[in-house]
Formats: sequence, C-alpha cells, structure tokens
Amino acid sequence: LSSVEVTRSHLERIAKVDSEINAFLHVETEGALATAEKVDADIAAGRRPASPLAGVPLGLKDVLTTKGIPTTCGSRTLEGWIPPYDATVTRKLREADVVVLGKTNMDEFAMGSSTENSAYGPTRNPWDTTRVPGGSSGGSAAALAAFQAPVTVGTDTGGSVRQPGALTGTVGVKPTYGGVSRYGLVAFSSSLDQAGPCARTVLDAALLHEVIGGHDPMDSTSLNAPVPPVVEAARRGASGDLRGLRVGVVTELGGEGYQPGVLRSFAAAVDTLRELGAEVAEVSCPNFEYALSAYYLIAPSECSSNLARFDAMRYGLRVADDGTNGADDVMSLSREAGFGAEVKRRIIIGTYALSAGYYDAYYGSAQKVRSLVTRDFDAAYDQVDVLVSPTAPTTAFRVGERVDDPMSMYRADLCTIPTNLAGTAAMSVPSGLSDEDGLPVGLQIMAPALADDRMYEVGAAYE
Ligand code: GLN
Repeated sequence: LSSVEVTRSHLERIAKVDSEINAFLHVETEGALATAEKVDADIAAGRRPASPLAGVPLGLKDVLTTKGIPTTCGSRTLEGWIPPYDATVTRKLREADVVVLGKTNMDEFAMGSSTENSAYGPTRNPWDTTRVPGGSSGGSAAALAAFQAPVTVGTDTGGSVRQPGALTGTVGVKPTYGGVSRYGLVAFSSSLDQAGPCARTVLDAALLHEVIGGHDPMDSTSLNAPVPPVVEAARRGASGDLRGLRVGVVTELGGEGYQPGVLRSFAAAVDTLRELGAEVAEVSCPNFEYALSAYYLIAPSECSSNLARFDAMRYGLRVADDGTNGADDVMSLSREAGFGAEVKRRIIIGTYALSAGYYDAYYGSAQKVRSLVTRDFDAAYDQVDVLVSPTAPTTAFRVGERVDDPMSMYRADLCTIPTNLAGTAAMSVPSGLSDEDGLPVGLQIMAPALADDRMYEVGAAYE
C-alpha cells in the first residue's frame, strides 16, 4: 500500500462524510498528496523513511500554527489568518514526513467540552450524530472515529484530548507538561496547555508521541529530558502482563454525578486490570474535589492575559464602523465581533480574578489549591505506580443539551483537570460501551511526570 493510496482514500472519506461530521475546518489536498508522493518516491529509491509515521495521514487541531495553511483556533477573530511560521509540533511532523491532511475543528481557542463553541459549527459524534464528540479537540477525535484520519493531534488544557477520546471510543493522551513543545500552540492557559497524540490504538498514539515530543529551546517551559520510551512500553504492554504493577483507584473520582453505566464500565475495567495481574488499591486524593473550581479561576485568568494579543492591530479580524474610529474603538469593535460568548465569559472572569483587591481571594486561593492537588498526586504516587478513574462522568451528550448551562459543561472535565493542575501525565483508552446507552466510555490512566511510558504500558495491556 503506497502513501498516495492511503492519503487518497482518507481524502475521499473526508469528502464523503465531513459534511455530516464537520471534523475538518480546512483540508490540505494538494499539500497532503505532495508529501505522500515524496514518501513513495523515497521508498522506491531505497531511501530510509524519515520516521515510522512517514507517509501516514494525520489531522492537526486548528490551534497549532501551520506555515502557509490557515489557522483559525475555531474563532472568527482569526478567520483567514495564514501563519508565517510552523509550530514546533508541525515542524516535527513535517520533518517526520507525516502527511498533514488538514486542520481539525475545535471549541473557540480550546474553551469548551463539546466543540459546540466553534465559530464554524459543531462537530458531530460519528457514533450518533445527534451527540457531541466532546471537546475542545472534538474534531481530532471525531476524525478518528469516522475513519477520516488514522492519527490526529489535539491539545489538552483541562481534558480536551482525553474527554473527546472517551466520548468517541478513541485513545487520547495528555503528555507530561513540558513533554511536547508549546511553541506555535496558540495559548489559552499557558501553564496548563499541552499538545498530545490521538489515535485508535495505544501503539499508534505512542508512535506519534515520539514524533512530536522532546525538548525545544523555543519553549521556555519545555522539559530538558528525553521523551519517555513510550513505543517500547506500548509494545511491552501488548503482552497483557501487569504483574507487579500497583494501580490506585481514586476515591474522589466516582459516585454522585456519574452515570451508572460509566461507573459499571469502570468497575469492570478495574477487574480486568486485576485479572492482568495488577495489584489494585484505593487511594484518596481529598483536594481533587476543589480542582474544578481552581481550574476555572486559573485558566480564565491566563486566558484573559493571553487573548489580549488579539487587539485587531496584529492579527485577523479588524472592524471599524466609520472612518473616525480610534485604535481603542477598533479594538473593542473587533473583539466584540470576533469572540464568541464563552471566550468573552472567560476573559471577564479572568480579568476580575486578577484585578487588584480580588487577586489574593481568587487567583491566589486557586494557586494554593493547585499546590494541594499536586501534593495529593505526590502522596498517591508514593503508594502506587498509576492511578485510574473514569475519563468523564457521562457518555456523549446531545448537541445543544448543555450550551446554556456552563456549569454542566464544565463538569465534563471533573476527572481530567487534576492532572493538568499538577503537570503530570494521563491518557484515556476505550473501555467498551455503556450498558445504559450503548455509547463509548473511556478509562483514564494517570502517571507521574515523565513516567508517560508507564501509562502506555497499562493502556496497551488493557485495550
Ligand atoms: N473543557 C475545559 C475548558 O473548557 C478544558 C478545555 C481544554 O482542555 N482545552 O476549559
């Protein structure tokens, strides 16, 4: 099978189903075929492929800059913007001869849990198109579930790779913070944002992880450490032997507010891990209860600062209502027209939380909770090798069901947010279908910083 054949068949699949799924905001047909032809020519000439993923088609979340290819972040503000540079993730994919099929749909600036906050229409869940695929990387997850791409890249600030993975029955990985460069990842909440691989199998995710991961001098928060040996771990895990591994079930992630079908699937997953030889213990992380509240102060605070760059002078949309507008008028008219409701809500919350007089009460308290959550993880990882929980409290909800209720939307990330606050690693692997509604459920596997390989081993053993 040549890369051109594989690429063409995925482009055809996109042409066939994407009017219904809306996973792609931009399809890069010519560029994709040109890369595929180059890979085929290299192989025909006996040259060694640039990477194990050379010639493999991929979808890239539209929050990562792509030189010469539009990048909108799901926002009107950046409609028509063509970045003059590649994100490090993009550069690494190009150097590995991965075929970039196009840019995937997302909640505006990655703020959301359903992809309904995209200015370009919601993405639909291929399992049931009346339902959401999760978010914010819903396009990247739906593209996998609809077989529009075999691998994609998403980003995860509070759960945006893992929760869509769970809701679409695919694998989604949030690497250790600093494990994948943020250079060229349009910032939402810089201390939490992390790009990660999305795939249909744990091994595919591992292969992609090794292509996009590693130290980058262009990102000051990039870890100066080798990429954990995730491919080797995924291959080892495939043998299905977890003897000697200690697994902790987090007491606080379950119970009230979770669908019974999700809890039953989780209990069955824990039984399976036990059957594979793991030692299972319950571990309490008491401060996880406050993680969601802390996140919704920290993330909006950072977003209010990061999104100040969209001042209508440097990028994208510029609105003026007559010839006499000054810079301030143009800025406020453009921001009013360019940002959606959720983005505005966050900018207002963040600006308030950071304002003099409220800073200590809100942002300061949230940072303290962040330290306590990190300590809970440290104490837990003294006792066990990995922690597990459901990835999300519910299966895929209906399009429109939560749009007017931000709190219920925010609760979708109850289980995923603690990991972002601590900067550790976590992934979601498919855990069958709920016996309640027949929709996919995800198992979340969490691991300490730079022990990403550990969760890949467990994920591969489990899947
Ligand atoms: N759903 C969360 C939010 O809206 C997480 C988003 C993300 O991880 N990018 O902020």
